[in-house]
Amino acid sequence: MGLSDITARLRAAEAAAGRPAGSVALIAVSKLQPPDRVEAVLAAGHRTFGENYVQEAAGKWPAWRSRFPGVALHMIGPLQTNKAKAALDLFDAIHTLDRPSLAQRLATLAQARGACPALFVQVNTGAEPQKAGVLPDEADAFIAAATRLDLPVTGAMCIPPDGEDPAPHFRLLAAIAARNGLPHLSMGMSADFETAVALGATHVRVGSAIFGDRPARA
Ligand SMILES: *Cc1c(COP(=O)(O)O)cnc(C)c1O
Repeated sequence: MGLSDITARLRAAEAAAGRPAGSVALIAVSKLQPPDRVEAVLAAGHRTFGENYVQEAAGKWPAWRSRFPGVALHMIGPLQTNKAKAALDLFDAIHTLDRPSLAQRLATLAQARGACPALFVQVNTGAEPQKAGVLPDEADAFIAAATRLDLPVTGAMCIPPDGEDPAPHFRLLAAIAARNGLPHLSMGMSADFETAVALGATHVRVGSAIFGDRPARA
C-alpha cells in the first residue's frame, strides 16, 4: 500500500511483461480522498491524477496545480454533457467518452477552442445495463464516428464487472483498441492492475491502494 509500493509493483509488472520501465502511466485516483493524503503524494513527486467528479476536481486542483507544477489530470468518471465545458477547462485527458451526444458536444467545444484533451472511448465490456460505455459490438462504429468529428480519440477504457475475472474484459478491450488503431489502453485498478499490465494496459487507474480507503460520497 502507498505510492512507493504501488510504483514498485508497477515496475515489476512492466518487467514481467517485457515492457520498458515507465511505459505504463500510473494514474493516482484521488476522488473523495482527504486533501492531506493527496498532498503527500504530490510532495513525493507524483504528478498524474484521476478524478471522477468535475465539480469536486474544479474545487481542489487549480490551487494544487499552482503549488505543484506539471500535474496531468485525467477525468475517469461519467461526464454529463452540461459539464463538458468545465471538463475541457480542467482535464488533460478524458477516459469516459461513451455516447454520441457527448462526442458531439466535445467536438463543438473543441472546435471553438482549437484544442481538445486526449480522449478514451469507454467500452462496457460486460454489457452491464447499469454501467456506462458503448457496447463491444458498437465500439468500432462509435470510434469511427468520433474520429469523423475530428475528436482526438487515442484510447479505450473499461471497468470490468465486479466479482468477475477481469482478464477476458482486458483482452476484449485490447482487441477493440488494436483493430481501431488506438494506442492507449486505460484498464486496471487497485485489485487488478498487474493483470492489466500483462494484457497491454498503458494507463492504470489506482486509488485506494495508493491513498487508502476513501470516504463514501456525501
Ligand atoms: C474510483 C475509480 C478507480 C480507482 O479505484 P480503486 O479501486 O480505488 O483503485 C479507477 N477507475 C475508475 C473508473 C474509478 O471510478
